[in-house]
Amino acid sequence: MLVTCVWERSFSTVRFMTLEDMCASCFPLGDVRVRSQVGFEPEGRGSYPYLCIDFRTLHSCSESSLIPGPGFISAGPVSGRRLRRLLSFQRYLHSSRLLWGTTHLNPLHILDEDYIGQAKCMLERVGSWNFDIFLFDRLTNGNSLVTMTFHLLNQYGLLELFQLDMVKLWRFLVMVQEDYHSLNPYHNAVHAADVTQAMYCYLREPKLAKSLTSCDILLGLLAAATHDLDHPGVNQPFLIKTNHYLAKLYRNSSVLENHHWRSAVGLLRETGLFSHLPLIRLKMERQLGSLILATDISRQNEYLGKFRTHLNQDDLCLSNASHRHFILQMALKCADICNPCRPWELSKQWSEKVTQEFFHQGDIEKKHKLEVSPLCDSQRNSMGNIQIGFMTYVVEPLFAEWGRFSDTRLSQTMLGHLGLNKASWGGLVQQERPSSPDELEPSRPTDMLDTASVLKEFGTDGMVF
Ligand SMILES: [Zn+2]
Repeated sequence: MLVTCVWERSFSTVRFMTLEDMCASCFPLGDVRVRSQVGFEPEGRGSYPYLCIDFRTLHSCSESSLIPGPGFISAGPVSGRRLRRLLSFQRYLHSSRLLWGTTHLNPLHILDEDYIGQAKCMLERVGSWNFDIFLFDRLTNGNSLVTMTFHLLNQYGLLELFQLDMVKLWRFLVMVQEDYHSLNPYHNAVHAADVTQAMYCYLREPKLAKSLTSCDILLGLLAAATHDLDHPGVNQPFLIKTNHYLAKLYRNSSVLENHHWRSAVGLLRETGLFSHLPLIRLKMERQLGSLILATDISRQNEYLGKFRTHLNQDDLCLSNASHRHFILQMALKCADICNPCRPWELSKQWSEKVTQEFFHQGDIEKKHKLEVSPLCDSQRNSMGNIQIGFMTYVVEPLFAEWGRFSDTRLSQTMLGHLGLNKASWGGLVQQERPSSPDELEPSRPTDMLDTASVLKEFGTDGMVF
């Protein structure tokens, strides 16, 4: 029994847990513990041999820079993961000046002060749809997710309201940021920071701002920050076809989203951030899960259909807690795939990053003679075609309904950018197309049609966003 075996290694007290128990359990942290303590061991779990390589190495590069130098004094054995946290925590203590406003007197940090000053200026406009998260990440020395999330929680007064311990919160956010894979071109902490910023923009929309409770806002921001936690940079079909144990654990259903949620709950418990709130802690964990699970793009039609029905019947009542929760789910879904609705300069960078991640998965699949996943073959797909298909079949339908729900200037701006960006990609695709008809391959559908048909089947395909 796969899972029992795993738990025996980690916690001898839960030897008899079965897969069914695990899935039904309200203590759903098995996968997180497994990953952090024993890593990937294909022999024990029947995974495809490729996965004996840790996911963190999927995007090449070594982590040798994390090995302590000769002056490092250790009080005992420290794992690489723990070491990363220790080092990053020191880094954040330095960058925390941004939040506390204390002056650093060391003249060597004068350049940092300048950057921090600029980052502070940016935070004054954190509600702007043109917010450049890439610049913000550079100005915060790669700490955009921690800095952004802490700032927003603080701005809403949620630390005082929920009596959150600042040290625990800081530690939690640092661990969240660290658990995103910085080597993933797309699914990394900058994407999470971008989604958190977009979520903040939606929370400020009049309909939401006047009806959401503090608890809704806290959950919305935390869900945005953690929604792709520990993303391996490959999609669910890849995990399924390589017999990865996470796919088995979650029965091939919302595998990644379940893992992101459990990872988030694992860090909440490890840091004890909500330990002083015993009456609502479990409910908050469950609601966090419900929000994160809604980002599974293969369930897009289900959520969109429900949203459309509510809008047609005009029966959304935001004084009703379940309706507010549904709107938070839709807001998070929009925030997660809002890249095509950003100004072109930002949107194009995201397109390049996601395409790079797709094609990297395709290269791995080819290398290991696995069937190449849709959109992941760099020879059959182009960035422009992928983007046009994604916008047409996924983004436009969602944002059209969001615009009906929240008919504001922001919604008009987003839809405006979406139209312009799609036209820009269309122009680029035209330019790339061979000029002579003789150069076209007559027996194969064009990439555009191929991509569109794949994206049209999103409902059953299980994409990676
Ligand atoms: Zn995401």
